[in-house]
Amino acid sequence: MKNKVIIILMIVCCMGCAQQKPIESLPYDGVPEASYPKTTWISHALEVNLFPMEYYMQVTDTIELQVNREEDLHIYLDQDFKVDGVRIQNQNIVFERNDKQIRIAKEHIPHKDIQLSIDYHGLFPKDPEALWMFKMIDEDAAHCFFEGMWYPMPMDIYKIDTTNIDIKKIKGTVAITMPKEWVSLSNGELAEEVIEGQERKQTWRIEEEIIGFSFAAGPYAVNRIASERIDTELYLLEERPDAVKDAQTWVEPLIKYYESFIGHPYPFSRFTVVEVSDTFSGGHGDASFISIGQSNWHRPIIMKWMYAHEISHQWFPHQLYGKDEGAFWFLEGMANYLALKATEALEGPEERDFLIQYYKKIYIASATLVDEKPIIDIKITDSDFLRNIVYHKGGLAFYALEKKIGENAMKQVLYESIDEYGKNGITLKEFQQVAEKISNTNLDDFFDLWLYQIGMPEE
Ligand SMILES: [Zn+2]
Repeated sequence: MKNKVIIILMIVCCMGCAQQKPIESLPYDGVPEASYPKTTWISHALEVNLFPMEYYMQVTDTIELQVNREEDLHIYLDQDFKVDGVRIQNQNIVFERNDKQIRIAKEHIPHKDIQLSIDYHGLFPKDPEALWMFKMIDEDAAHCFFEGMWYPMPMDIYKIDTTNIDIKKIKGTVAITMPKEWVSLSNGELAEEVIEGQERKQTWRIEEEIIGFSFAAGPYAVNRIASERIDTELYLLEERPDAVKDAQTWVEPLIKYYESFIGHPYPFSRFTVVEVSDTFSGGHGDASFISIGQSNWHRPIIMKWMYAHEISHQWFPHQLYGKDEGAFWFLEGMANYLALKATEALEGPEERDFLIQYYKKIYIASATLVDEKPIIDIKITDSDFLRNIVYHKGGLAFYALEKKIGENAMKQVLYESIDEYGKNGITLKEFQQVAEKISNTNLDDFFDLWLYQIGMPEE
């Protein structure tokens, strides 16, 4: 029985955590905070060459930064990939590589505003360690996401700083060179396409400020579903008439429901569902698209829930993200809470109650198998069991908050949080203040009980 619960729990976990190996020691560990240069990340350009496909990928990453102090610049890499070159304002510069750190001496950083480019390679898909961000680079398709900006945690391929980046939204471009038969997609608009010999290069420009960005590339068949609110595109690796029918049934009602419940319109001009291979077993909600691992397409019940969860990420974090230690809960607990509300509205109270029991079971199974920690102490890099506590007990925490202050007040809390903090992100304390102001209730005990204590509070 226990095993059965565990299997289900692996499947539903968002962000494909089932097969991914959490980064065990992050390169920032032990680096004193004071050694971070104070920087602001302005924009980001990613150039990916998927040739040759034999498990090799060449990447150039360019970011515009404001470096606000005269110190050496340290870049902390999440991976062991090979750094071929570092350029500032497109000039090659001398750098030192020491394990996972790159150091650029301050005399090489002449401007306050710099354009820093890093050329690297060596992400091998057969090496599970290398699969954290570039989820898969294989014969079928490639998929990548940079979600480091979702949470104030070091989750990028590399990071310049984790503490002093105020602007967490970025603009930029993603250019992908891939086999001619393939197509790619990203959060932005297709700005350029060049076909040369066997290669196709597509360049995506991201004009809207987003939190993290993603791309997928592969031999996709594109299915379009016209609808009155927003058209949906499905990028599928095989023919799936059922998947098209399901998307037709689910997407529009979910988007409309969230628009009315949250009170803010869907923030993008299109919506895409992308199938990714089984190296990525969960789902992921990116700006204007959701990606879903292949194995889920055979499980309509899981898929329905996954659509609800991932679509809600179009608002959280893309309309509002958490920006302190409460961020992981704020986004994933919120996504599970909103999936619960959408299920209630679209499927009825019985389905909602089933989902509540299901969240509880997953929480109990997870909490039994590990040394339970309070939600606030669980990090995105912790084990799947601990993470499941954030997702499922976290979803129930928002639901309990709704029970305490009432559904209308809860809607108002979501509406006002985005309205007031949508530009800059929200801290846990600020979120609590909004909820307290609207409900006229002191919520210290409530937040303490759900976030800072272990166990499932009695109803
Ligand atoms: Zn999620």
